[in-house]
Amino acid sequence: MHWADNFAKQVVENRNKEEYVVESGITPSGIVHIGNAREILTQYYVYLGILKLGKKVKFQYIWDDFDRFRKVPKGIPAKFEKYIGMPLTKIPDPFGCHNSYAEHFEFKFMEEILQLGIKPLYLSASKLYEKGSFTENIKLALEKTEKIMEILNKFRLEPLPEDWLPVNLYCERCGKDCTKIKYLGDYKISYKCDCGFENEIDFRKTRIVKLKWRVDWASRWAYFKVDFESSGKEHKSRGGSWDTSVLISKEIFDYKPPIGPMYEFIHLKGQKEKMSSSAGNIATISQLLKIFEPPIIRFLYTQRLNKTIFIPFDLDIYRIYNDFDKSERIYFGLEKGNDELKRKYELSKIEDYETCPKRISFSELTFLVQFIPEEKLRDYIKNLMKSRGIEMTNLDLDLSLERASKAKYWIENYAPEEVKIKLSSEKIDLTEEQRELLKKFIKIIKKPISTEELQKQIFELSKGKEIFELCYRVLIGKTHGPKLAMLIDAIGREKVIERLSGI
Ligand SMILES: [Zn+2]
Ligand SMILES: [Zn+2]
Repeated sequence: MHWADNFAKQVVENRNKEEYVVESGITPSGIVHIGNAREILTQYYVYLGILKLGKKVKFQYIWDDFDRFRKVPKGIPAKFEKYIGMPLTKIPDPFGCHNSYAEHFEFKFMEEILQLGIKPLYLSASKLYEKGSFTENIKLALEKTEKIMEILNKFRLEPLPEDWLPVNLYCERCGKDCTKIKYLGDYKISYKCDCGFENEIDFRKTRIVKLKWRVDWASRWAYFKVDFESSGKEHKSRGGSWDTSVLISKEIFDYKPPIGPMYEFIHLKGQKEKMSSSAGNIATISQLLKIFEPPIIRFLYTQRLNKTIFIPFDLDIYRIYNDFDKSERIYFGLEKGNDELKRKYELSKIEDYETCPKRISFSELTFLVQFIPEEKLRDYIKNLMKSRGIEMTNLDLDLSLERASKAKYWIENYAPEEVKIKLSSEKIDLTEEQRELLKKFIKIIKKPISTEELQKQIFELSKGKEIFELCYRVLIGKTHGPKLAMLIDAIGREKVIERLSGI
């Protein structure tokens, strides 16, 4: 059984409700990258699993945008330092295109996720706090400060300071949370800010108080009745935010914490530069979309949770595409295979096709895009497949061209040298025997025969590998290459004859 279905089953069996809630969330403190995406996709698959069991379920995504701005990430002007300590929604967009710093990164990610066909119910922590949604939880946490400290101190070497409180407060004058707070009981708080401002507020009316992270997390589970929320390794150390939030949920908010497995990290494989969110290189879903079809990105994230996902930018990309195509054929019953792979396809697919699309492999396309001009590619693929007895529909061709654009980008930006093909013009010393062989070879190419027939005849001509090696050397300066007849047709038979005759 796929892990998503396993967790779905656990949720339904252990929590037994009318409607379930699957939650995800992140702080939009900078570029939301592909590691963060594992969170939303993990949650999403469990959501699909619960739906499959015929249950009602809500999938919500909370932007933790009431969090303080902690530090200026690379790529953001240094002058933003002056905003440190303010909530992310109160800081201007460094790029000037959205209403706030938070919104900028939120919108970018929401657009990306939408391209993967995923539409959670988005919520903003800032708006929830502004609406006063958590007012009662704030009061409860303040009243039980001692108990919360006890829970947190269990895992701390050094206990929290005596005057610790489970909340932060954003100053009404400077907007920062550099405030010393005193809880006066009921809904009353007095504070003094580093900027010199001081005041006494009723936090039912003045909504500038925020629960500290671990308490905040637990408060949210209780408020929304969350049933499932997985999280990354960074939250899962002993006594880390997960462990303590679980205890706070039970003991402070009297809520049975959600089921929440840990997921491993995401790594890039075969990427020359290191992933860096500062440079914005490759770290985002948008970057992945340049070389992976949207369902294939989803497919990547269906892998086991306790395994690091390696996103391939090297030749392994062929394997991922092939595995996906295989899962699709299994899904449509065209090939035998395990149920797990079939389920992975179900979780990955965005469109529901009536029949299995006829696919051209990614590896073949990486080769074709190097020779066939873009405007001729559609017809070329159509004829090529026809010569194999496969009639491509318009949809098949659309999908092929989409895949071809990814293949092209991959070739231009990530492919290892060995797959890049150029028509060689180098002088090569040949023996008489080899010249004879090439002459015979040219004769075959001059015949008006199909690519498949050409391949067959070349094969007959070559007793052993010699003609193949020779041709690859002459044509592309390598000892091996793609299917020779295809290479010839891709280059164009006339050009090949010209090159072979001129040697
Ligand atoms: Zn913007
Ligand atoms: Zn202040």
